[in-house]
Amino acid sequence: MKMSLIKRARTLVQKDKEYIWHPFTQMKDYEKSSPLVIEKGRGSYLYDTEGNRYIDGISSLWVTVHGHRKKKIDDAIISQVKKISHSTLLGISNVPAVELAEKLVKITPKGLSKVFYSDNGSTSVEIALKIAYQYWQQKSDKTKIKKKFISLVNAYHGDTLGSVSVGGIDLFHQVYSPLLFKTFKADSPYCYRCPVKKDWPGCKLACIDSLEKILKKHSREIAAMIIEPMVQGAAGMITFPKGYLKKVRQLCSRYNVLLIADEVAVGFGRTGKMFACEHEKIIPDLLAIAKGITGGTLPLAATLASEEIYNAFLGEPEDLKTFFHGHTYTGNPVACAAAIANLEVFKEEKVLLSLKKKIRLLTKYLKAFVTLSHVGDVRQSGFMVGIELVKDKRTKEPFSAKERIGHWVILEARKRGVVIRPLGDVIVLMPPLSISEKELSTLCDVTFESIKAATEK
Ligand code: PMP
Repeated sequence: MKMSLIKRARTLVQKDKEYIWHPFTQMKDYEKSSPLVIEKGRGSYLYDTEGNRYIDGISSLWVTVHGHRKKKIDDAIISQVKKISHSTLLGISNVPAVELAEKLVKITPKGLSKVFYSDNGSTSVEIALKIAYQYWQQKSDKTKIKKKFISLVNAYHGDTLGSVSVGGIDLFHQVYSPLLFKTFKADSPYCYRCPVKKDWPGCKLACIDSLEKILKKHSREIAAMIIEPMVQGAAGMITFPKGYLKKVRQLCSRYNVLLIADEVAVGFGRTGKMFACEHEKIIPDLLAIAKGITGGTLPLAATLASEEIYNAFLGEPEDLKTFFHGHTYTGNPVACAAAIANLEVFKEEKVLLSLKKKIRLLTKYLKAFVTLSHVGDVRQSGFMVGIELVKDKRTKEPFSAKERIGHWVILEARKRGVVIRPLGDVIVLMPPLSISEKELSTLCDVTFESIKAATEK
């Protein structure tokens, strides 16, 4: 490599450390590290400033659906920029926002008929919570006491205060507790560490009893339940046992509580279906989507609502039933144009169809991981994988936080040309849906070798 390139790469690292405060990152540790600075991407690969190439094993934080620099999406962005880059959705509209809304209504579970835009996953959840709350306030006098929410232990719904309130990961959320509203927490269907100490399928989904208990006692005061359908992502890819989500839907309906599906992570093909709710053929009352919506190009999110909910917000201006919420970049036309192109790629390239074989291949490769002496559990839902590392396989004793085992695994992977990011001691694989079979095989081989290298030293 040329000296000038090496110098530039070093300067960028130095300035990065000088000026950027990185999210979810202990900066004292980061300042001592040799961070990656990404320069460009193509397909399944990322390239750093020194010209090194890495497989993007986590789709750049679970967003890159069809690989980097997908021509159709890039072209749509450029073409829209030449028309207009931004115009507000407050009281007026724009062309891509309209066209995308129609498409979203058509591809999401039937019954969701209105699209409210925002620009990240946390706000799409925040909006769903506010809509659910206001809906009951405006529906009738009898429902005015429905002001509370239920979520699951281990839930993650974003970083804004509302979405943190319905979160259930103490490590991230505990410190803010005085700022949060109180919510009911039901058991998480975490089979590997079953909250009711039973085994699937003999348990007959006993973990759902805690949810039913809460509903039985408090449903009169509960506005909505929020859930990540099929997989609790940030908790470590906790995959739901079959039938669990359907039962949640049934219970919410029986107890007259709205169901909010947070498909921010699982949406857009990630679990093998366009939306994870499709696995159990359930229809939520509100749906939050983001991440993969633009194929990993621009920030965009949406909250979809049923007609019944939407209607409760109609009235004369002086009735004050308006949904008083809206971010500056809501329905940004460039992001919406990217999202339209993203959906067109899904259709034209029959992405979900060709994904089936790759999901089976991934399942096959993952079988080898359980033979490793520190792999406690391997969880997969489509192209979402969590490999839980434990100190002792027999007792399931975790590694101590100090050992930072997940961190060492990803550094080993980086040395071998793969970028992945752990969730604690759970190694996550979330490749682009477009990854080739050969790249998928390399990703799995490298992850295997890296776990071995970091845990069997
Ligand atoms: N909900 C879920 C299920 C998520 O996984 C995430 C992000 N990982 C969010 C909400 C928040 O999305 P964002 O980071 O775009 O705010």
